[in-house]
Amino acid sequence: MRGAVLYAPRDVRFEERDVPTIIKSTDAIIRISATCVCGSDLWPYRGANPVTEPTPMGHEYCGTVEEVGSEVVSIQPGQFVIGSFFASDNTCPNCRVGYQTSCQHSEFVGGAQASLLRVPLADGTLVPTPGVPPEDLIPSLLSLSDVMGTGWFAANAANVQPGSTVAVVGDGAVGLLGVLSAKQMGAERIIAMSRHQSRQRLACEFGATDIVTERGDDGVVRIKELTNGVGADAVLECVGTQQSMMQAIRSTRPGGSVGYVGVPHGVELDGEQLFYSHIHLHGGPAPVRRFLPELIDLVWKGKINPGKVFDLTLPLDQVGEAYRAMDERRAIKVLLRP
Ligand SMILES: [Zn+2]
Ligand SMILES: [Zn+2]
Repeated sequence: MRGAVLYAPRDVRFEERDVPTIIKSTDAIIRISATCVCGSDLWPYRGANPVTEPTPMGHEYCGTVEEVGSEVVSIQPGQFVIGSFFASDNTCPNCRVGYQTSCQHSEFVGGAQASLLRVPLADGTLVPTPGVPPEDLIPSLLSLSDVMGTGWFAANAANVQPGSTVAVVGDGAVGLLGVLSAKQMGAERIIAMSRHQSRQRLACEFGATDIVTERGDDGVVRIKELTNGVGADAVLECVGTQQSMMQAIRSTRPGGSVGYVGVPHGVELDGEQLFYSHIHLHGGPAPVRRFLPELIDLVWKGKINPGKVFDLTLPLDQVGEAYRAMDERRAIKVLLRP
């Protein structure tokens, strides 16, 4: 079996890897229908996270169950399934309140940019679709594995309500799907912060009502101008830098909420500034598993089409080009077909 392995910054190779097998009796093996490159894969690809050893890449996946371990009861071979990038038992106290990414037995699911994938804790992690999906639903179903689930969590954590005014910081795939999520949750006004025309267009298609191109202090001023000097009720932070986090916090009205899902890189918060801002701050690695049943239903019924964020599809053996296209921002998100 061949798959993507990162050796060093900008050195991703498509090479022969061991075929995954059942290691624990709670595992499943999935034949990947589609996978993709994540914005977070770009951190090690760009050298922002160290690459200490050759690392199999990819954590977003959907596909058909090939084999299950002897203790797996709810997942069966032949089912089409989607899972989160964190495996979870879905039974421990943290899972039961909907924080499966903090599962007491969580394990990262890595190596999905390949034709086969081992998923631990199959019963808790995987959610089957109502049937074998038609080809045109595959991109949207794949997006639920991470980006759509993460955008949805950002909106959920930011407490988006019907009628809310929402601002979204970040125009990557997660930010764009944060726009779609806010729209689906009934937001009345959605301000997308983006400088790139193709992304602005998609944001508007997903429900953005206003576009702000300014960043930093100027971006905050624009949000205030657009909200009668008050700030947004809900702000989705989908980048993870100091500038984006401060932009999110300062764009939020007193009593409002920031949902932050960008993996923080060097973010430091000032306690006094937070104290006087009067905002709610909630985020973290999205508990995608919590939302999978609801989101699968919305995709299955054609109510949302998050798969539109994939603006480039490549065969898996061109995974190197997929990373380059995303690194150079030629593509928003690249779908890979084994
Ligand atoms: Zn991801
Ligand atoms: Zn758990």
